[in-house]
Formats: sequence, structure tokens, C-alpha cells
Amino acid sequence: MTTLEIRQLPILSDNYIYLIRDPSSGAVGVVDPAGVTPVLREVERSGWKITHVLNTHHHQDHVGGNYELKWLTGCKIVGPAVDDRRIPGIDFRVNDGDVFLFGDAKAEIIFVPGHTTGHIAYWFRDSNALFCGDTLFSIGCGRVFEGTPAQMWQSLLRLRALPPETRVYCAHEYTQANIQFALTVDAENEALRRRAADVNDARAHGRPTVPSLLSDEIAANPFLRADQPELAEAVGMVGKDAAEVFAEIRRRKDIFKAA
Ligand code: ZN
Ligand code: FE
Repeated sequence: MTTLEIRQLPILSDNYIYLIRDPSSGAVGVVDPAGVTPVLREVERSGWKITHVLNTHHHQDHVGGNYELKWLTGCKIVGPAVDDRRIPGIDFRVNDGDVFLFGDAKAEIIFVPGHTTGHIAYWFRDSNALFCGDTLFSIGCGRVFEGTPAQMWQSLLRLRALPPETRVYCAHEYTQANIQFALTVDAENEALRRRAADVNDARAHGRPTVPSLLSDEIAANPFLRADQPELAEAVGMVGKDAAEVFAEIRRRKDIFKAA
């Protein structure tokens, strides 16, 4: 069993790239490279040698650095088999339930369609680390661009079922704006109020709010709570299917304007 070393690199206005290293084999992966500048700066500093790119989905702010990293380092690119035509330079095509061996570290592949039809998450069970791209955010979830809300809800349920001590390494720093919305549908939730205070403090001091703990997301993220009676009540849908409640919360978030 090997535990990943993880470095978090901000890029663009609110993306995170993760640089991960398996100390046992020396494998170094770049999760969702929006670009290359901070990645090259970090490997220069640390002496790490990039061996892999791990992509969660095809959006430019997740694959924008693929070709350049491959060209510069000869690394191999891992991505969803079902979306392989949209993953630049893909070498390893992975499917739901696969275990991808990243050096000596096992990445379990979880198919989580909704944001895009081919979205996957990488779960490193032994490191309690989940790289979930734009599916689950802290106190939010990705927009449903290509799939259906019901599909997205099923995807979130699969992530919710992981061990509560899992750390959620999502691809964007959206937490503060997500909390503003969450308070409009779950204002009485003590866990959400506490998280709001923590997040405001972190952002005021320029600290990231990501990764978060899955247990904290389960307690405070309204998109993981669509099957709780309080949420159905808040959106006037008592007795309705959780997937429908989820769709309504997602619809409201789509049109919500943060203060
Ligand atoms: Zn995306
Ligand atoms: Fe994104």
C-alpha cells in the first residue's frame, strides 16, 4: 500500500491542477492540466518527473495542457474510454470499475456522467483521495451540460457512498459562491452555517477551501442532500422523487446570481 503525495496548483481564475506522486514507484501524475505553466514550475522546483496525465473529462480547462505535457515529457495520458475522441493525446482508455495502476498506487475508476457524458472520477482508496473534476464541488456540483439531472444525481450518489473520510479534490475553487446559493435552500443547516464561516475566513486569508472531507459534504452540500425531507420542503416538492428535487435545486443554482 502506498500513499500519494499531492500538490495543489491554482491556474486560470478558479481551477486547480493536482500534481500527484506515488513515492513507491516515483510515478508523477498531473490531474486535469488546464495549462502547463504552474506544472512546469513545480516539477522544476521539486525534481519530479511527470509520467502521466489523468483527465476526468474533455473540457478545455481540464485537458488544455495535454499535448504540451506529452510533447515535453513523453508522459502517458489516461482518460475515459467512452469519450476518447475528445481527450487530446489519450493513451490509456479506462472504464467504470477499472483499476488503473498509477505506479504502485491503485486508482479506481468511477463513471460519473452528467456534467459531460463521459466524465470519470479517480478514487485512490488507499490515500483517501478522490479526484472528481467537475462532478462534485465543495458545497456544489457541476452544471449538467450533456447528461440529464437524473444521471447527475446517480453519479453524486455513487460518490456519496465512498468512505466519509475521503478527501474531495475537485477542480474548481467555487465554494464561497456555492455557499451563498446553498443557504437559499438549506438555511437552517448548522453544518452548512459552520462551513460558511470557515470558508469565509479561509478566503479572506487567501487559503484554498479545497480539498474538503466527504463527510462534511454529506452534511452540508445541498446537492448531496436532495433526498432529505428539508430540501424537498425548501423547494416546495414534498413527496417528490429525490432526482426531481435534485433537478429543481440544480435549476435554481443555474439561474442564481451570487451577491
Ligand atoms: Zn467541466
Ligand atoms: Fe472545469
